[in-house]
This record gives sequence, structure tokens and C-alpha cells, in this order.
Amino acid sequence: MQDRTTSSSRGGIAKIAAAAVLLAIAAFIFLRGDADARQSDVPEDATLYVCLECGKSFELTPAAYDKLAREGGIRAAEGDEIRGRVCLRCPHCGKFGGTRAIPCPKDGSPMPRIGKDGRRGQCPKCGWNGNGPES
Ligand SMILES: [Zn+2]
Ligand SMILES: [Zn+2]
Repeated sequence: MQDRTTSSSRGGIAKIAAAAVLLAIAAFIFLRGDADARQSDVPEDATLYVCLECGKSFELTPAAYDKLAREGGIRAAEGDEIRGRVCLRCPHCGKFGGTRAIPCPKDGSPMPRIGKDGRRGQCPKCGWNGNGPES
């Protein structure tokens, strides 16, 4: 009688523990799946960035951007004139020089939207600085 009670309650605890583990796994899969669904990882959705430190460009998909953010690779720029600008850790030189870039309308080379001094960016190749129709 006593043995049966003990074993049945033990079985109950094991069942609860197993259910809790399954629930945790299910929640983990659900959260992961949800995050993956929201963040596109296709090259078509990639955003162009250029590093103000080394001048090289790189592209990040929304998923890659999120991954970089989680790894501490994104931080706000310092200084009054560049307040609000976000700096990304450059995959080429490792410095926080990455900033949003657009292809130069004249020669297609990546140029920063905002330069190091907080002013309008300039094409490193031809010097075009946005004097013209804004894209
Ligand atoms: Zn760089
Ligand atoms: Zn240019």
C-alpha cells in the first residue's frame, strides 16, 4: 500500500518534469521559428554599408544585422554632430566604422549617407556628395 503510493507519486513528479522539459523545448523552437520568420536572410533584402575607417563596403541582411547587434557589434555614434548615427563593427577591419551607404549614382561605388564629420557623405571615387536629386 505504502510502496504503491510512493511509486505513483514519484511517477507523477517524473511526468511533470518531462512535461516541463517538453514545454521548454517547444517554447524554444517557437521563439526561434518566430524570430526566423521575422528576419529575412535573403541577399535581396540586404542593406549596403560602408566602413568610414577602412573605406570598404559590406552588406548585411536583416538577420545578419540582428546577429551583429546581439554580438555587441552595433553601437551609437559619439559626438554631437553625428548623434543618432549608428556604427557597425566592420567585418574587414573590426573597427566601429560601418554606416549606411548608398551606391554612387554616377559610378556605383558605395558611399556613406553621412560622413565621419556628420555631413553628407561623399563618393570616395568621384567625389559626388549628393548635390543633385536625392535618391
Ligand atoms: Zn573597416
Ligand atoms: Zn562616385
